[in-house]
Amino acid sequence: MEIDSETKLCCLIGHPVKHSISPQLHNSAFKHLGLNMVYLAFDVKSEHLSRVVKGLRPLNIVGFNVTIPHKVSIIKFLDILDSTARETKAVNTVVLKNNRLTGYNTDVEGIKRSLLDSKGILDGRALIIGAGGAARAAVVALKNLGIDEIVIANRRIWKAAALVRIFKKNDLEVKSVGLPEVRRYSRTSSIIINATPVGMWPHQDETPLSSKDIPRNSTVLDLVYNPLKTKLLEEAEKAGAETINGLKPLIEQASKAFELWTGLHPPKDVLWRVAEEALTKWGMK
Ligand code: NAP
Repeated sequence: MEIDSETKLCCLIGHPVKHSISPQLHNSAFKHLGLNMVYLAFDVKSEHLSRVVKGLRPLNIVGFNVTIPHKVSIIKFLDILDSTARETKAVNTVVLKNNRLTGYNTDVEGIKRSLLDSKGILDGRALIIGAGGAARAAVVALKNLGIDEIVIANRRIWKAAALVRIFKKNDLEVKSVGLPEVRRYSRTSSIIINATPVGMWPHQDETPLSSKDIPRNSTVLDLVYNPLKTKLLEEAEKAGAETINGLKPLIEQASKAFELWTGLHPPKDVLWRVAEEALTKWGMK
């Protein structure tokens, strides 16, 4: 792929962005489909966010991804929010069309698709560990899958309680608990989602739950993808549960963003290969 005067731009804005594998994913898909597009990562500090978004408009870029710490603060600079962004009150993908910026949360689709494609039963109570941006996306994904009983367990319980206040309006039975109580709820949950960095490299020996706290017929999704098989997933396997690693939602959220920007489906086999290669290169796998 040669960059020329007609090359269209997509990008990532966040801080930090150094370890993101989104550039490799999107650029490999552009190349595979012969699209004259390029994806770059920009390290943007919070105090520069407003100027950066104002500057991206007249450049007429195709769109951009948003990551920590801008997923919520970006909202005030956008013109339209789709339902996923409205419900989560967080945005990870923006499309620029006719000078209007529309915000989406494709993490919702990433988590939903990961659960749908697993062999696990999607019924009963779900437990989400964590109450940050990923947990918000998990609540909406579960709700869209018809799961209406959700427990949110978080280290700082007030953050879990704040999520409960947001989501209680949506006909959901949501409850907040502190981490010391997590085992009590995990033992009776059929879906367990880790939406914290616990178990992430270089702390890969940590896990929020051990095998005795995980039901045999449950589905366990760990949003951590470095390492791919976290200690939590090892424990879940030991318990006989269905497991999903964090690469699946990562690739599904990127695919959804790609579709929003190009109107095309990216080659998922290429995305998987590129993601695994990128993680190996960073020593994360
Ligand atoms: P975030 O908004 O910063 O939230 C982090 C959450 O983790 C908070 O609830 C925090 O609890 C909790 N936490 C942090 N360190 C902890 C610890 N040592 N022990 C217990 N709880 C801890 O981050 P996020 O965007 O939600 O992301 C969470 C994780 O999901 C990250 O590892 C991220 O890489 C991953 N993620 C993966 C995907 C994917 O597609 N695979 C997508 C999004 C995110 P407190 O509130 O008490 O601090």
